[in-house]
Parts: sequence; structure tokens; C-alpha cells
Amino acid sequence: MLPDLKKLEVWFITGSQHLYGPETLQKVAEHATIIAESLHQSKQIPVSVVCKPTVKSTEEIYQVIQEANANNNCIGLVCWMHTFSPAKMWINGLKILHKPFLHFHTQFNRDIPWDSIDMDFMNLNQSAHGDREFGFITARMNLNRKVVVGHWQDEESLDKINIWCRAAAAWHDWQGAKFVRFGDNMRYVAVTEGDKVEAEIKFGYSVNTYGVGDLVQVINAVTNHQIDELVKEYIATYQMAPSLLENGAAHESLRQAAKIEIGIETFLETGNFKGFTDTFEDLHGMVQLPGIAAQRLMAKGYGFAGEGDWKTSALVRAMKVMGAGLQGGNTFMEDYTYHFHPDNRMVLGAHMLEICPSIADGKPSCEIHPLGIGGKADPVRLVFNSAAGAAINASIVDLGNRFRLLVNEVLAVKPIQSLPKLPVARVLWKPYPNMHTGCAAWILAGGAHHTCYSQNLTKEHLEDFADIAGIEFTHIGKQTEISSFKNELRWSEVYYKLNQ
Ligand code: MN
Repeated sequence: MLPDLKKLEVWFITGSQHLYGPETLQKVAEHATIIAESLHQSKQIPVSVVCKPTVKSTEEIYQVIQEANANNNCIGLVCWMHTFSPAKMWINGLKILHKPFLHFHTQFNRDIPWDSIDMDFMNLNQSAHGDREFGFITARMNLNRKVVVGHWQDEESLDKINIWCRAAAAWHDWQGAKFVRFGDNMRYVAVTEGDKVEAEIKFGYSVNTYGVGDLVQVINAVTNHQIDELVKEYIATYQMAPSLLENGAAHESLRQAAKIEIGIETFLETGNFKGFTDTFEDLHGMVQLPGIAAQRLMAKGYGFAGEGDWKTSALVRAMKVMGAGLQGGNTFMEDYTYHFHPDNRMVLGAHMLEICPSIADGKPSCEIHPLGIGGKADPVRLVFNSAAGAAINASIVDLGNRFRLLVNEVLAVKPIQSLPKLPVARVLWKPYPNMHTGCAAWILAGGAHHTCYSQNLTKEHLEDFADIAGIEFTHIGKQTEISSFKNELRWSEVYYKLNQ
């Protein structure tokens, strides 16, 4: 369900000009090929890096950018000015560029060859000023881009390029993506609402609602044989509550849960949807609220959020693409309840049912318990704890005049108690810089109670992603201090008003 990142391409584009003559240009092309190939082979770079011929004129630049725009596998450009590439040549091309780009400010040689350096060497290896000319025109044209500085074999450079490639892959995945809502928003809720037309213009994905009856029809067409097979898979994969096993009192509920999962997956596959939402307020014709279904479909790579929250569902999908192949998981999450003990303040994150088992620490247990709301039969769900370690919470909110992507860095901690009566998957974390400041900043920024919780992405992935999307990025981390944070929000407000 997640894309194979290695099938996606980043085009490595080296700028120069004819002034230097064929011998120098030959060297430029050789160096570019070596760098691009090295990036392509690097374990850190998840996508394919394709070296394009050196561009030396307005026409060549325009043409390669036109090709990049039209190429379905090209997710973005890495641009490098080995020599001086007069940047007025770049204007026409950059004006039509629809893909993200990264400006790699690097140099072929790592060290200055002290004994042999002469003016020929200087004229060949001049990205130190050539890249400044490119930096000027991209600043002058007010283009969002990531600037990575460092030698191309340096681990730190590779890490930064890796992060940007993942953000670009998620952006590529959003273009033309379809998300389906079963039922509308949870009634009267504000933060999960938003402008779906603006989102499609800004983000490239569409969100459309289907009546729950349309889904129920597909669920009802699921065969007993399909259910048998999935129930076998459940039993082989999870620690099963005895009542759910064959001859157990709730075995039929497990079969119903499997039927719902197969039905939703069929619906998503048939409609080519990359994610979905549901709502406990609209389950007409469904026996139980999808619990294990939503959990397992998320684990397969689908976006999901409850209560009609399409923005979070799409974000979960994007973050799953960004994290493809990395250790750890990404999941729909909700700040549920607090532990305010002065020695150990923290948040308990969970949802009624739907936390993705990609963040599970150990084998999840498959259980059935009553659900206080929705008025349906007891839903089957996976229950588990989550590993300790660095994580982030991310939320996209619609502020009316813009979208804001809000990220809080947190530290997940091991549960201090066993929580024997809590029948849902859960995570405990401490927000940075501390509970009081982190939560206050989140509230001031209008961050939702729904988030995507990630164990394998950092704020830099989301910052690159927000830059590519051209939306506001607001970060709460170790250095956050409320007075300056409030000013940042005020200044952003002015910036986005002037920038309309
Ligand atoms: Mn919720």
C-alpha cells in the first residue's frame, strides 16, 4: 500500500555556462555524475537519484524543468552550481517549476589541495560563489526550498537530503490522492472541520464523502471464506482474548470485525483511496465501530482519523510515506488524559480504539470490550503499549486564511503502571520543553486534539514538508518559550495576511 520509494526519482541538476570551454564542462559533468551516483548508492537516500546533463543556457534549464514537471516518477530536483551559472538563465525555468527542489551547496573536492592549487582549480571548483548566485535568484523569486550545505560524502549532508527526499515523496503521494469519508464530521466539532476545496488547491488531494450505506453494501458482500481466512490471520498474529476464539462467547464479534475490515479494504482498493475517516455518530447498518479494521488498515499504510477528521487522515498517510522503511511507526493519535503529578507530568495518548499497531511494543492483544458511545455492539480492538523514546505529534489546522502545520517534539516514556482496566492502545509522553509550556504553546497555536504521532520522523521532515506545501510551520521544542512563541504566532499572522 505504501509506495516503493526507490521507484521515485530525484533529478540531480548541475548548473554551469559555456564560458568555461569544453574541457572544464567535461570535468563538471564527470563530477556531477560521480556525486549523483554516490547519492543514488547511499544507504541513507531512499529514492533513486538520476543525473541530468549539465545545464548551460536559459533554454536547457527551461527544458529540463519542463521534463521534470511532466515526469510521473520525478518527485523533485537537487540543484548544484559546480561553476558559476548566471542566474537570469534560471528565471524562466524556475517560474514554471511545479516540483519541490533542494539546493545542495556542496563542492566536489572536500579539501583544498594546498600544494597544487592554481587558478585552473579555482575556476573549476567555484560553487562557493556559484551557488550564491543561484541562492540569490531563488530568494529574489521567493521560492521555498531546502538549502543543504556540506560535502557530498558527509553523513550530515546525506541525512538532510534523506529527510527532504522523504518529505518530497510524501508530497508526490498527495498529488491526486483521494481520501474518503464515511459519514460527515462529528457534530458541532470545530477543529476537525476545514475547507476541502482550499485543501485540494493547496495540497493536491481530494476528500469526498460516501454514505455509510455504500460501505455497508460492500461489507455485506464479504464471503464467509474471506472471513475465515482473516480470522486465522488474527489468531496467528495477536495474543487473543479467549472469548474471541472459536467456541468463545464473542467469536461472532471477531467475525463481524473481520467482515468490516475486509469490506473497508475492498472499498478503499476499488476506489483507489489512500485513506479514510469514519464517525461513531453515523454507523447505520454497521454492527460495530471499526476498531481493529482501522488499526490494521493504518498499519498497511492507509491514512485514518476518527470523527470525520480528513486533515489528520491525510497527514497520517503523508507521514507513513515519509517514514516508509524506517524503524518505528506513525499513527492517528489523540491527547486523551493527563498525569499532573509534579514529579512526573505527562500525557496519556490514545483513542477510543484506533491506534496503529506500527507503534506497538511487543505483540498486541486482540480484545473485545464495550464502548460507551455510538450505541453499537462491542467493538474488537488491538490493545498494546508503545515503546519509549523520541517522538513527535503533528497537527494541521485550518485557520481560515491558511493552514498551519504544528509539531511538538515529545519524549515517550515506558508506562509506570500496567493499566489493567484500560481497554485501548496507549502511549505516555512528556512534551518538550516541559508539560506546561508544551501544552500551553499547543493551545495558543490552536493545535487539534487529533494528531499524527510519529516514532520515526523528526520536526525536520515536517518542516521540509510544510515548506514544500507552502504552509505555515510552527514548532514546539526544547527551546520554546511562551513570550517569543506568542510573538512568532503574531508575526506569522501578519505575514500570511500580507502574503495573500
Ligand atoms: Mn477523537
